[in-house]
Amino acid sequence: MKICVLPGDGIGPEITAEAVRVIQALDLKFELEEALLGGAAVDVTGDPYPEATRKLAREADAVLLGAVGGPKWDNLPREQRPERGLLGIRKDLGLFANLRPAILYPELANASTLKPEVVSGLDILIVRELTGDIYFGQPRGIENRNGERYGFNTMHYTESEIRRIGRVAFDAARKRNKRLCSVDKMNVLETTQLWRDVMIELAPEYPDVELTHMLVDNAAMQLVRAPKQFDVMVTGNMFGDILSDEASMLTGSIGMLPSASLDANNKGLYEPSHGSAPDIAGKGVANPLATILSAAMMLRYTFNNEAAAARVETAVKKVLAQGYRTGDIYEAGTTKVGTKQMGDAVLAAL
Ligand code: NAD
Repeated sequence: MKICVLPGDGIGPEITAEAVRVIQALDLKFELEEALLGGAAVDVTGDPYPEATRKLAREADAVLLGAVGGPKWDNLPREQRPERGLLGIRKDLGLFANLRPAILYPELANASTLKPEVVSGLDILIVRELTGDIYFGQPRGIENRNGERYGFNTMHYTESEIRRIGRVAFDAARKRNKRLCSVDKMNVLETTQLWRDVMIELAPEYPDVELTHMLVDNAAMQLVRAPKQFDVMVTGNMFGDILSDEASMLTGSIGMLPSASLDANNKGLYEPSHGSAPDIAGKGVANPLATILSAAMMLRYTFNNEAAAARVETAVKKVLAQGYRTGDIYEAGTTKVGTKQMGDAVLAAL
């Protein structure tokens, strides 16, 4: 059980250090090895995804990533920018399934812009296909036709691409409340008619999971009207891009949101949904909980250890109930702590 740890830039090293302490405290005989990614890698090797990192990431069962990027590297040539490292590793590892939970702990219900009763206790998971759809389809471009500019893109999915993301979503629903909502636009787009057909064909393999379907425009409305009706949602790359950001903003706390990107064998890259927060880097005030919760997802999805995952998540709930808050989620009447103190509190709760 080998984990490649890529702290990255900005607050990355501070928050991954706390997640590593949590993983080590579980005493599960993980082998952890660290490497460079993003700006930190450019500084040392000139390459945001250097060969040594590539080798380690390929060998490992899972990758834990902090975040990359920062103003220091913004003016470098495009191929040396930190984001290139991130896109590089995602592509290199063949990560086609993006899992983004949106959880709003009752203690943080005031952080949302929605009414507390609409979002308090929210716990949904969006499964987004990551390597296909209109974002990668050919032909594409902007041309001159009939004396005017003409822009075009191609939406497409093969049934095998739909089936493999469908299986990830059904499996995820099985590990949760066994309800899966597939989101499409089958009334207008043939590609998504195929999407719906393939999801329906898969359903008999998962008799314990209830499959429903929703058109994407309605899904966008339902997410703000009554988000707690959902358990797991699965959708294509473009719809998923938009809906997963919409869902994460329901919670209003960017420092709390984990994510996972999986390949066909459940090897995964686990990272917080937020960036490298250069404005607070090095100050010891960043919220490490999104990274700690990403480590919990790693235990669940790559190492298939539900008990350990639940143990970490329960510890996080406990520190919130005890009133510990980093600056980003602080409210009057709670106890403000720094990154390391928050890690200490999670360890104590474990
Ligand atoms: P950001 O997510 O880094 O920060 C947005 C705001 O949220 C900032 O005010 C920041 O202080 C705060 N914040 C973020 N994470 C926090 C945490 N854990 N605890 C407390 N506060 C937190 O987004 P940005 O400012 O747009 O981007 C900064 C850099 O991060 C850029 O270089 C960008 O390219 C990069 N970025 C990287 C990733 C990634 O590595 N996956 C994702 C997004 C942005």
